[in-house]
Amino acid sequence: MQIPHNCNFVGKLLAWICFLRQNKRTVKILAVSDQALERVYTLSSNGHFQGTELILGCGDMSYAYLEYLVTVLNMPMFYVPGNHDPQFDLRAAQAHAEGGTNLDLKIVRHNKFLIGGFGGSIRYRPDGINQYTQAEAYMRAFSLLPRLLLNRMQYGRALDILISHSPPFGIHDDSDPAHNGLKALNWLIRIAQPRYLFHGHTHFYKRNLASPETTVGITKIINVYPYKTIEASH
Ligand SMILES: [Zn+2]
Repeated sequence: MQIPHNCNFVGKLLAWICFLRQNKRTVKILAVSDQALERVYTLSSNGHFQGTELILGCGDMSYAYLEYLVTVLNMPMFYVPGNHDPQFDLRAAQAHAEGGTNLDLKIVRHNKFLIGGFGGSIRYRPDGINQYTQAEAYMRAFSLLPRLLLNRMQYGRALDILISHSPPFGIHDDSDPAHNGLKALNWLIRIAQPRYLFHGHTHFYKRNLASPETTVGITKIINVYPYKTIEASH
């Protein structure tokens, strides 16, 4: 019997699909924002989050809460500050959640995932902490460009996961001055095309009427408040 000419090609294709499947990296994430929940304390201590590999903090969280999660769950944590983080002070090196990494305007490669952070919210008070006008937020986002381009050249993609406190403009945000989203985040989604954007800040957002998840292009935008567990892949 004669073997079809394309058999070799099909075999190679199947081997390649198998290779890709084996190398597809997934990570189980616990993301938290805005409110320390008694339930999360209990779930953490009774092993409910077993199998989780990473904690992401999306702002407005007490450092004591973040430090508790890191201690009990014993895994890496990245977080960004929100607009209600009085403990956060850029000038004070010791002002951070012990055991975690403040990812504001930084990008790290963790377990083959490229993770970036963008703290703060829209400015609605002249003296507010971690608050930015739309123009200021754009300037902050532009500062990430060199690293995003480097990632694109080195890894073939700019970013896998973006964590922010604010939502993007027009997505999960609200019309009151304190809860307008940041347009700079819409720009970052367009430029960096992360697979996931985790955010907090808008806990009053039509919670019972609208979905906390929206997809824009390849980016899944997730309102974390008050916590979410997600299996992320790239
Ligand atoms: Zn907030």
